Amino acid sequence: MSLDSNTPEKLDLARELREQLVEWARAAAPNEACGLLLGRVEAPRVDVRDVRAGRNVARDPAQAFELHPEDHLALTLEAERAGLAIVGAWHSHPRGPARPSATDRASAWDGWLHAIVGRDTRGEFELRVWRVRGEAWTETARSTAASERGARETSDRNDQ
Ligand SMILES: [Zn+2]
Repeated sequence: MSLDSNTPEKLDLARELREQLVEWARAAAPNEACGLLLGRVEAPRVDVRDVRAGRNVARDPAQAFELHPEDHLALTLEAERAGLAIVGAWHSHPRGPARPSATDRASAWDGWLHAIVGRDTRGEFELRVWRVRGEAWTETARSTAASERGARETSDRNDQ
C-alpha cells in the first residue's frame, strides 16, 4: 500500500464495533482497556471487520496499557485463520481525551490504526481513530457513538 500520508484514507468501521469499543472502555474504567482491530487493508481503504479486547497487564492499568503478549499472539492467529490481518490497536483513556498521549506517540506502531476511546468535552466517552507515520499523527475517524450509548443507557435504567 502507498505510504503517502497525503492520500486520504477511507476507514470502514461499523457502528456496532465502535459501540463495542466504547462499551469495553466503560466496563474497564477506571482502568485502561486495550485490544486489537482485525480487518483488511486495500489502500486507501482500511476495512475493520472485527474488534477484540485483551488483558491489560500494565503495572498500573489505571495509567497505562500493555496488551498481554499471549492475547496479542492469540488474536494474530485468530485473524490469520479468518483470512484477516491485525490492522491496528485500540485502548482507552478513562479520564482523558481520545487523543494520543506522549506515551502513545512513543510506543505506537507505524502504519497501524490507533483507536482511542476517551472523554469528549462533556465527559462522555467518544472514539477517535488515528494513524501514525513517523512523527505525523492524522485523525482518520471520529465517532459520536458516545451520545448514542448515553441515550440507550438512560432507557436501560428506566427499564429496571
Ligand atoms: Zn493512550
